[in-house]
Amino acid sequence: MRKPIIAANWKMNKGPRETEDFLNTFAGQPGKLDGLTGQADVVIAPPFVSLPAAVASLNSASAVAIAAQNMSDQDSGAYTGEVSAMMLKELYVRYVILGHSERRTLYGETDAVINAKIKKACESNLKPIFCIGETLEEREGGKLETVLRTQITGGLEGIDEKDMKEVVIAYEPVWAIGTGVVATTEQAQDAHAFVRSVVADLYSQEVADKVRIQYGGSMKAANAAELLAQPDIDGGLVGGASLEPGSFLDLIKAAV
Ligand code: PGA
Repeated sequence: MRKPIIAANWKMNKGPRETEDFLNTFAGQPGKLDGLTGQADVVIAPPFVSLPAAVASLNSASAVAIAAQNMSDQDSGAYTGEVSAMMLKELYVRYVILGHSERRTLYGETDAVINAKIKKACESNLKPIFCIGETLEEREGGKLETVLRTQITGGLEGIDEKDMKEVVIAYEPVWAIGTGVVATTEQAQDAHAFVRSVVADLYSQEVADKVRIQYGGSMKAANAAELLAQPDIDGGLVGGASLEPGSFLDLIKAAV
């Protein structure tokens, strides 16, 4: 009942030229994505400077949506180095990844900062991919549920039920990101079920039943089918395995 959503998070990889090459191979050849995009939403998040090339490489009828990896919570003004929601809208960007663990740890983004960005995204009709996840230390210290509840509650503060319909949550255990150590299907399913229960507490069971929760952290074609067969796993946020068109396509095929 929930359509899977598979998103490529390229992080700081691929300038405009490589982005164009990737998309020409990935989406440019007839037949490549046939039948797949009807069964799953496919999203690609290149770096900011590659967004125009990504959008230009896809025709307007393309079923592949483009995402940004971050954005400002401000509209315009003296914010050196920042990019606004309206600038992304002008490029026909449809999603924005917010609160990725790399932004939390390397750039000090707090739940409050992420919350302000999610609010701005919703206000601007950009669909947030809201990332949460625990470190290994937190998991081993028995703090998994407290950490996830705090991140979800803080990140979604003031987001009403209507806006929540546009929000995708990405559960990414920090210890699984870029490490090759994927969460077991049981660990992932348990965490996803917990995340959904928190959404039910904050909103309603109906909202919780509808929200799509992606798994992220060393997902690849070889483990995607098993993860996505779990009842509460509705897609993937994919780093390493999304950088090559063939492996990303294989992952999508495994997912649907
Ligand atoms: P990974 O990254 O697939 O390379 O582990 C996932 C992410 O950070 O979104």
